[in-house]
Amino acid sequence: MAAPATPLIGVLALQGDVREHLTALAQASAEARPVRRPEELAAVDGLVIPGGESTTMSKLAHLFGMMQPLRERVAAGMPVYGSCAGLIMLAEKILDPRSGQETVGGIDMIVRRNAFGRQNESFEASVDLAGVAGGPVEGVFIRAPWVESVGAQVEVLAEYGGHIVAVRQGNAMATSFHPELTGDHRVHGLFADMVRADR
Ligand code: GLN
Repeated sequence: MAAPATPLIGVLALQGDVREHLTALAQASAEARPVRRPEELAAVDGLVIPGGESTTMSKLAHLFGMMQPLRERVAAGMPVYGSCAGLIMLAEKILDPRSGQETVGGIDMIVRRNAFGRQNESFEASVDLAGVAGGPVEGVFIRAPWVESVGAQVEVLAEYGGHIVAVRQGNAMATSFHPELTGDHRVHGLFADMVRADR
């Protein structure tokens, strides 16, 4: 019998806008559930790391015993998508980390936190995203990071204002902005397709 077509996608639920991603995934025809523990991580086909605060997320990942399992699964090629703080979590290197702040890694890039300004400088912008058909996506940028530089294996999916804001390396994808806050689920659809293709 053919494998079921609905991929099971987790949303890392330590901190951040977990519910919005669960909703966006459901509307992109994926089955979605929160992931807090190693056993829950082991059960999913792919993972979204939400927006929030990467310093807090990094601390909680250690507290919940999730940092090592996350690193292992991402290194083993599990499809993963990070938005905003999630992008920071997927970076190999942060230019301006808080002391003790660690990342999961997976994308050979250097990121700058809060690069687009502080909370009151949050904004929305249309972004042309490679791999997403049907015109630009509306990106919500909230104290958003940008990508300073990428390694040769990294595909740049989008730039905004002269800065890299979306990238992909193999099965890992990340955006500086939050597509989950817009009601447009094409980015989650693209990620669900990546997870389907990987199964
Ligand atoms: N500035 C936050 C951080 O460093 C990210 C903000 C966000 O996810 N909206 O993690």
